[in-house]
Amino acid sequence: MNDIVLSVRNLKKYFRPHRNLVQTVLKNTPVRPIKAVDDISFDITKGEIFALIGESGSGKTTTGKLIMKLLDPTGGSIFFNGQDVTHLSKKALAEYRKRVQMIFQDPYASMNPRFRIRDVMEEPLIIHKVGSHRKERHALIAKALQEVKLTPPEEFMNRWPHMLSGGQRQRVATARTLLLQPLLLVADEPVSMIDLSTRAEILHMMKEVQQDLGLSYLYITHDLSTARYFADRIAVMYLGRIVEVGPADEIIDNPQHPYTQALIQAVPEPIPGRVSTIKELPISGEIPNPSNIPEGCRFHPRCPYATEECKNQEEPVLVPLSTNSNHFHACRRAGQFTPIGKTSTQV
Ligand code: SF4
Repeated sequence: MNDIVLSVRNLKKYFRPHRNLVQTVLKNTPVRPIKAVDDISFDITKGEIFALIGESGSGKTTTGKLIMKLLDPTGGSIFFNGQDVTHLSKKALAEYRKRVQMIFQDPYASMNPRFRIRDVMEEPLIIHKVGSHRKERHALIAKALQEVKLTPPEEFMNRWPHMLSGGQRQRVATARTLLLQPLLLVADEPVSMIDLSTRAEILHMMKEVQQDLGLSYLYITHDLSTARYFADRIAVMYLGRIVEVGPADEIIDNPQHPYTQALIQAVPEPIPGRVSTIKELPISGEIPNPSNIPEGCRFHPRCPYATEECKNQEEPVLVPLSTNSNHFHACRRAGQFTPIGKTSTQV
């Protein structure tokens, strides 16, 4: 299909852990790899916002780094605009980085505090040889700042990073990515370090930019409430695997996997006048060590509906909820239990 911007197939990233003292002395002791990303596949189409959701340790940030080519995959393939970009030469990587840009969690950390905003923004233009002279580059910077509603742009170009609020810094970070006319933005927790009061405003701005320019986003977050507002589709990751994926509203309103149901239950209720914090997950235990992934369904040690089959049979793979459905889940018992957080009369 022509409108697929990014296609990820069977992507894996295994890290080799350092040997501890006992393993070094006993040379034959096996050291298990840390399976941070363990065979995931998904597509992102032109103009689509695709969210990757999960607890810390689920592999979502590692997936973002693999797509940004900040890490090399252990296995699998990445295709961008139909081209295999899994392994790139230095020259091809520079071209790829123009088209796939990243918005970081902490925009301040990505800005040199001794540079004015115009210099912070001019840097990628100089690196990628865009604009033949300074005046031309400044015109591009002013246009990008207007795009993210930092006006008048000349005023913001003269400021230092410390003179901006968290929200304004994230706007500058977004404007900087736009300068190179990307097709895909990878946004890793872009609003988690911003005041609660400003988060919706920044996501709204990012969505406007995305719609105006027809961009695609990979939105990485632990926050289902923003993903519902922001994303077209949501993929839920658990211990390196995608366990549920589908249209955002469908995933939130009709979750099939118990892990997705637990994440939804942890979303705080908005109470006027009170700061809401993420609630504890209504499931026991913590995410297991990715170097020791449980046999069978990898979620079974924490799943309230696990049976002997879940532990002993092969790991469930993603299957459609019904024929021709674009909602997929990896739970062999989906539909056979009352979803977490609901009473049997609510099903
Ligand atoms: S397959 Fe079994 S253990 Fe895994 S999520 Fe479904 S019910 Fe739980």
